[in-house]
Amino acid sequence: MKKPSQIRAKKHLSQNFLTDENVINKIIRSFNLEEDDHVIEVGPGYGSMTFPIAEMVDSVDVIEVDKNLVEYLNEHDQNQLVNVIQADALEFDFATLKKKRKIRLIGNLPYHISTPLLFHLLGFSELFQDFHVMVQKEVADRMVSIHNNKTYGRLSVAIQSRCDANKILDIKPGAFQPRPQVLSSIVKLVPKALLRTELHTQLDPIIKMAFNQRRKKIRNSLKKLFDSEEILNCGIDPNARAENLSVDDYIKLSEINRQAE
Ligand code: SAH
Repeated sequence: MKKPSQIRAKKHLSQNFLTDENVINKIIRSFNLEEDDHVIEVGPGYGSMTFPIAEMVDSVDVIEVDKNLVEYLNEHDQNQLVNVIQADALEFDFATLKKKRKIRLIGNLPYHISTPLLFHLLGFSELFQDFHVMVQKEVADRMVSIHNNKTYGRLSVAIQSRCDANKILDIKPGAFQPRPQVLSSIVKLVPKALLRTELHTQLDPIIKMAFNQRRKKIRNSLKKLFDSEEILNCGIDPNARAENLSVDDYIKLSEINRQAE
């Protein structure tokens, strides 16, 4: 790739561009890409990951909101390997890019919208083989945290009820230009085979209610939804607090709620 002569970054678009070649290579290796993969990248920036990946796999689509970067990418895509789409990823209908082969989604996500963007992406889970997303380390820790931990919360349950989630790399601020204030991490998400959307319409309000009052016992914080007996019938101690319930416990609760309606 031809290097940009000068990197200009827009703060309001969370632009922190990867510039350290060793780190870029390490990240790309961690994706375990195969030649016939269909890769979609969200927020390609100057294409530091995009162009090397385009040499490795069959098909690469990128979604970039910044018009200047879209022009840059098109100008530097000499072999016409990349399909550059100018769009806001939060609004984008990923089903329009569907092909026979499931999609490998990658992205150094814009940090100011990483959580809503993740949920938007997970709405298309059946299209994706996996997701490798770079987020702030603190968000990554919450995504993969298990119960009985301080970092375990609404995001942990929301993500892990939908996907297997593992943190695979931490990346230091020095790998980017401009340097972000925080450490970053790459999380690998693999959507669960049986994703039931109706389950999540039940689950999401339960976890919201439980973790809004995380110091309370769940028999109190969830009393509008369940009585103590229903909680006990799921094999859960009604005197436990939100962070003591496993992801499976929350799924069990969401299943009662569903039958009740
Ligand atoms: N992947 C590149 C750039 C990461 S910075 C690299 O690692 O070097 C985040 C990128 O997301 C920027 O290119 C920014 O313009 C883009 N971006 C920000 N908000 C976006 C949105 N809503 N939709 C699509 N891209 C967005």
